[in-house]
Amino acid sequence: MSMTGNQGRLWAIGEVTRRTPRTIPNGKKASEYFGCNTFNHKVMSDKLPNDVYHSLIETIKEGKKLDQSIAPMVAHAVKEWALEKGATHYCHWFQPNTGGTAEKHDTFLTVDSSGEPLERFSASQLVQSEPDASSFPSGGMRATFEARGYTAWDPSSPIFIMEGPNGRTLCIPSVFISYHGQALDKKTPLLRSVEYLSENALRVLRIFGNTSATRVVATLGPEQEYFLIDEAFFALRPDLVSAGRTVIGARPPKGQELEDQYFGSIKSRILGFMQEAEYELFKLGIPVKTRHNEVAPCQFESAPVFENVDVATDHNQLTMEILRRVARRHDLSFLVHEKPFAGINGSGKHNNWSMATSDGENLLEPGSTPVENLQFLVILMATLKGVHKHAGLLRAAIASSGNDHRLGANEAPPAIISAFLGAALTRVLDSIEKGDLKGATTEKQVINLNISKLPEVAKDNTDRNRTSPFAFTGNKFEFRAVASSASTATPMATLNAAVGEALGEIADAIEARVASGKKVGDAAMEVVREYIIETKAIRFEGNNYAEEWVVEAEKRGLLNLRKTPEALAQLKTKGAEELFSKSGVHTHDELEARYHLEVERYIKDLEIEIGVLKEMATTMILPAAYKHQANLVAAVGGLKAMGLNGKLVASQVAEVESVAGLVADLKSTIDALDAAVDKAESDDLHKKADALAYKVSPAMEAVREVCDKLEGIVDDNLWPLPKYREMLFLC
Ligand code: ADP
Ligand code: MG
Repeated sequence: MSMTGNQGRLWAIGEVTRRTPRTIPNGKKASEYFGCNTFNHKVMSDKLPNDVYHSLIETIKEGKKLDQSIAPMVAHAVKEWALEKGATHYCHWFQPNTGGTAEKHDTFLTVDSSGEPLERFSASQLVQSEPDASSFPSGGMRATFEARGYTAWDPSSPIFIMEGPNGRTLCIPSVFISYHGQALDKKTPLLRSVEYLSENALRVLRIFGNTSATRVVATLGPEQEYFLIDEAFFALRPDLVSAGRTVIGARPPKGQELEDQYFGSIKSRILGFMQEAEYELFKLGIPVKTRHNEVAPCQFESAPVFENVDVATDHNQLTMEILRRVARRHDLSFLVHEKPFAGINGSGKHNNWSMATSDGENLLEPGSTPVENLQFLVILMATLKGVHKHAGLLRAAIASSGNDHRLGANEAPPAIISAFLGAALTRVLDSIEKGDLKGATTEKQVINLNISKLPEVAKDNTDRNRTSPFAFTGNKFEFRAVASSASTATPMATLNAAVGEALGEIADAIEARVASGKKVGDAAMEVVREYIIETKAIRFEGNNYAEEWVVEAEKRGLLNLRKTPEALAQLKTKGAEELFSKSGVHTHDELEARYHLEVERYIKDLEIEIGVLKEMATTMILPAAYKHQANLVAAVGGLKAMGLNGKLVASQVAEVESVAGLVADLKSTIDALDAAVDKAESDDLHKKADALAYKVSPAMEAVREVCDKLEGIVDDNLWPLPKYREMLFLC
């Protein structure tokens, strides 16, 4: 198909207007197929001998090591189930440091010595696998000559079956480790962080007399934002194809200013997509709960019911994958980039996070008894302490080229990490700080505390501050600054480690006071008060978008790490080294490797964007401008040939001049971009990343600005790229 001028756009518009919603027959109740593609408890209990079943359940629940002696029976049951479900292949499914997922399929089919074909699946194939994984980024940790790492089954996340167009694959959630035991993936550090958090949280629980909890887990409910545009438009945009975001494109006359998209009625084509995606997600046992239109045109959100953080992380990866796949069936492109379109909101992934005991108690739920409330306050203060002390690492954990467009723009939490608690809880903490506990009484007071020295905690604290990066929402925190395309593993591992450390420290402090003769309640209250004073700087109830906040935050000594390179530099601090080695989340080598590969990733992202911007400016925008200019020149020539002169001709000559001026600007901004790129070149990765962030990015913006001006004056018949108004409003 060869298309010139705006023919591509017209073709795409034609495609879009002919689309009809895709329907799939599904008359069943969701409960009939929920989890049908997972090796779930029911399948396990049906297929495994009783003792093996119980041993496996124990492994899953307690996060224990698998008893190797049961592996053969489990492998047999898994194989039987997979074959019944029509699977032909299996794979270890893992999450390398690319931030995505990886899989290498093997067939169950073998041919025995007499030439008979049969399906086989051994315990060792279930438990361990060795992908030839030398091409994954390892941050220099693993020289290619000893490229062998292995994947190991992580039983805490359910085994599942992925359906392909012509067959099914058994997927075994796994971790990816080097032969020296170093993590080569995002999941291993997350699992380690949960163990560390659990150990330290249990210490606090024991202080308050809890003897029954055996484990504490972090819980996560990630709200996923994304855009959908028609695939035909997507195909015509080299920037979306290569970089996931538009690097040029003029603002449309109508954007999100009417605020008519948020929670608006969902177009039937989009609803059809959502329904099919949810059907697929339900089959995988992923509890997606809500769906709605988001603020920007063509922007949507899906949120699941929360789960243990490791399972939720796997499920979020699968959710992004399924949304992408199902979108294609509906001729839609799933855009998960943080800022696909300038001038309208970008996408994030709000990480709702809390901690829960093995008995199901939510540790961030204000309680109904004084003791529970005191415990709640201790846990809350440990959380604030962790966030305060390690704000830089939390910022590093959400750093990416895409998220740089969100943080710092007035639509998403800023790059400054602070925590919002709400008016009621703030009053409680302020009263404790002042030592005046009567002031803790709030209008919403529901819990009557009869013993002295205990504040009242408002139970139904529903006030919201949408501008806060880390907000308490009644019984959990919402870490809002996470990038929409990112794995939740790294931000969650960092938060778990930071809070785990603080829980250990607060337990030490209380225990020391108790050892010197204080009652637990008094000791805890004293420590809570100390922590309130110590962490005050991190609490901010105001508007995070305000200019004044930047100034105020600086006074408070809070970090304002505006872009990725300086955020990632936090990984090189002593604080990072200490926290990650103490918690076991990263070894020294792993941390170095993580820094290295994330900086490298940032650089590569920008290099791709630069490449595609230059290509589009040179091969699409300039030629369109030349044609437009030639048309104008011909018109002027025509007027002159008619013998016309004066004002009439002059106004058109002026028009030629303005196009020629923009062409000249475009050429000079491209040259300036080239020069900035050359100058940024350095063997020192940090220096290079920094130059890309602060010197090259503005040069890219300058190129864009000229392109967008040209879009406003060049004949629409000549404009090759789908315009914002088409991509965002036609689907
Ligand atoms: P809200 O509207 O107050 O933000 P929702 O009930 O809509 O709360 O929840 C938003 C997300 O937070 C959902 O994914 C939900 O499952 C999750 N969530 C609720 N409670 C917890 C918890 N204790 N831990 C982690 N996530 C939670
Ligand atoms: Mg939201």
